[in-house]
Amino acid sequence: EAKAKGRNTYHFYSQELNAAANERLFIENELRLALKEKQFVLYYQPQVDSKTQHVVGYEALIRWFHPTQGMIPPTKFIPIAEATGLIVELGAWVLQESCEFAARLAAQGRENNISINLSARQFKDANLVPLLASMIRQTNVPARRLHLELTESMLMGNVEAAITQLHQLKALGVSISIDDFGTGYSSLSYLKRFPVDILKVDRSFVKDIPEDTNDMEITAAIIAMAQKLKLNVVAEGVETIEQVAFLQNNNCFIVQGYYYSPPIPESELPKLFEKLNDTIR
Ligand code: C2E
Ligand code: MG
Ligand code: MG
Ligand code: MG
Repeated sequence: EAKAKGRNTYHFYSQELNAAANERLFIENELRLALKEKQFVLYYQPQVDSKTQHVVGYEALIRWFHPTQGMIPPTKFIPIAEATGLIVELGAWVLQESCEFAARLAAQGRENNISINLSARQFKDANLVPLLASMIRQTNVPARRLHLELTESMLMGNVEAAITQLHQLKALGVSISIDDFGTGYSSLSYLKRFPVDILKVDRSFVKDIPEDTNDMEITAAIIAMAQKLKLNVVAEGVETIEQVAFLQNNNCFIVQGYYYSPPIPESELPKLFEKLNDTIR
């Protein structure tokens, strides 16, 4: 009986494995086609100055609209694109679209920052710096408007190589953000060695404010540390007015989250400006 049960368990387990492997294979195959058929769209989530309600920038967040599966979220396909190397081509598309978006905004008199997520492979790619340099030249986007988001783990593998790459990127005039800050394992002493400009406080610390006093302490400490290191700080995942107030009381004014807006397609920007009463300055 135990044997039969074991066999059934194994059978069930292998079926589950198969389903996961099949989904992975499906996504992998469809990704190649999706790149060719342009099934990707960038959504933009505003970063708002809570003092003035003005949009200061946007984070570009990729969306995949699959013809039969509907919207496939980035958390489902970015890791697969990363593992297969397709991320290099996909990431290049994100960079190009983001530069063009920033240039369109600038042409409307809206000089906003655009934050772009880089993947580990993309960051390590020797072609990243020349590629970005040529996009900046070709789109005429002011380089200081581009903020590249990296995670702590991307910097911690080969520290010397990461520092060199960061200096080369910074030489183009772009800024560097540490995304999901506090969730990785970077030490504070390392942080000082990296030429970074912005820390993004991870949503996991913000989401339970004001109920979780530990999270409030951690958030306040990250903001205070950022200030000591002369880094700008952006809070992610801000959903409530209480969270906005807490952040303001702790000297963090740039916020990103559903409280102001979810990520939206470019066509919805006029509605956002109306809601925030954000006229062109
Ligand atoms: P991330 O860079 O940390 O982006 C923030 C995520 O939090 C986004 O999820 C955003 O939609 C979500 N978010 C923003 N405000 C709120 C809020 O108030 N509440 C809640 N619950 N969520 C909020 P999304 O768009 O699903 O992206 C997930 C992750 O996928 C991103 O995390 C990023 O790591 C990755 N990603 C997205 N686009 C790209 C891309 O173009 N390239 C690369 N390499 N990665 C990307
Ligand atoms: Mg990000
Ligand atoms: Mg983040
Ligand atoms: Mg995140």
